[in-house]
Amino acid sequence: MSTVVTGGEKFETRVPLLIIGAGAAGLCAALAAKEAGVEPVVIERDAVPAGSTALSAGLIPAAGTRFQRAKGISDSPQILATDIQRKAHREADPAVADAVARNSGPLIEWLADRYGFPFDVVDNFNYPGHAALRMHGLPSRTGLELIDRLRSAAEANDIVILTERAAERLVIGAAGKIEGVEMARGDGAVERLGCDALLLACNGYGGNPALVRRFIPEMADALYFGHPGNRGDAVIWGEALGAKLDHLGAYQGHGSVATPHNILITWAVIMQGGLQINSEGRRFCDETRGYSEQAADVLRQPGKVAWNIFDERIAAVARQFEDFQNAERAGAIVRADSIAALARALRLPEATLRDDWTEAESLKARSGRDRFGRQFAPEQRCESPFCAVKVTGALFHTQGGLAIDARGRVKRNDGTVFRNLFAAGGAAAGVSGSTAAGYLSGNGLLTATVLGRLAGHAAAEQVMQSAKG
Ligand SMILES: Cc1cc2nc3c(=O)[nH]c(=O)nc-3n(C[C@H](O)[C@H](O)[C@H](O)COP(=O)(O)OP(=O)(O)OC[C@H]3O[C@@H](n4cnc5c(N)ncnc54)[C@H](O)[C@@H]3O)c2cc1C
Repeated sequence: MSTVVTGGEKFETRVPLLIIGAGAAGLCAALAAKEAGVEPVVIERDAVPAGSTALSAGLIPAAGTRFQRAKGISDSPQILATDIQRKAHREADPAVADAVARNSGPLIEWLADRYGFPFDVVDNFNYPGHAALRMHGLPSRTGLELIDRLRSAAEANDIVILTERAAERLVIGAAGKIEGVEMARGDGAVERLGCDALLLACNGYGGNPALVRRFIPEMADALYFGHPGNRGDAVIWGEALGAKLDHLGAYQGHGSVATPHNILITWAVIMQGGLQINSEGRRFCDETRGYSEQAADVLRQPGKVAWNIFDERIAAVARQFEDFQNAERAGAIVRADSIAALARALRLPEATLRDDWTEAESLKARSGRDRFGRQFAPEQRCESPFCAVKVTGALFHTQGGLAIDARGRVKRNDGTVFRNLFAAGGAAAGVSGSTAAGYLSGNGLLTATVLGRLAGHAAAEQVMQSAKG
């Protein structure tokens, strides 16, 4: 049970910086703190660090990197900040959005140059809302590779990660200063650890059905596709502490999870020219607005499902993702030589599917725009053999959380900041504004990694300052 208690007693063991959560945010924070000269200790509920980071595609948007320049891609932090704010309907905190955009390129180059992460830029399709090709990924295009490399970097730098430790209670001293944490070990024993500064990197509340129902009722019954251990502790502690909580209704959804296989089907299949069709054989929206808002749209269709329809050319692009290869191996991708045969194989109404498909193909040929506002282009034309996959909408992670400044310092309701409390990643409010539609692809790992690094550095500075004074 996560709570906050007031305690004057001393802790037997004290560490300079305690980080709760060993996902992307916690491990980037730990690396940054260590570089700044402070020994962090990371605690993690699971036996092996994974988090939602391991479930992701591991793609991080970053602007102005040498990886982009090498491929002749022109981009800048200003353009990224503009893209973030356009998608977020200008609801993102400008100081935080500017900071993540400005520090995104340095983050990628830091991980590449100092820790040897072999990033490259995805250059054969773009995600909705990005004005430039800027998704940086590792060879397998998996978050598992990202978290494994972060954990190895932490271990190589002698960073202590205490696994099978679930933080349950924050202990608060005079004037609201965080004194330490009570945590439950895997064997049920309770341990107490004092700290000079605390950094919350325990993600959001997607794994807490009561909080999802309270803050995001439209996704209360949806499949949760994130890490089950993200139970909203940061929000629960924040409420008890009088911290400011922002945009609690915001989330990253995804309208393309293969069902019943539960495998993520990359949105590349749509951006390359694929369509989404419901069980009546009809399209129902402009699929290219974004995959996040598409989750609720798919869930509003009969049976809460849709079919992505595309072709073999698009399947070849999607195959760079291990998830897509897994979906093929699992038999989730259905193939047919004609749209009529595909309709029969999927048991969809043949005439309506053929009408919507033919209309879209003719719009592609003349660069037309459809009744939903989707803009098509000739290079998106599809040809036999055709492919299809049955998908549903899912909740990936929540985007609301503790309001922070541009250095990850947690804000109180009155606008002041806590002296020694920091947050990053899904524990903090993101840069997606107040709705699912405000989520620009990559906002999750962007804020986890960049703000993790900034918050880790700021927390280390705070520890060193308080040691001096
Ligand atoms: C299927 C999927 C695909 C995605 N793809 C992308 C993508 O390609 N690009 C992108 O930008 N974003 C993507 N995201 C979102 C991205 O994964 C998250 O935004 C990001 O991983 C959050 O990082 P984090 O460090 O905040 O949290 P996590 O990686 O979830 O780490 C939090 C850690 O805290 C631990 N923890 C929680 N509570 C406690 C506690 N009380 N005590 C101790 N430990 C605790 C958890 O066990 C967990 O290990 C995707 C998400 C999903 C689910």
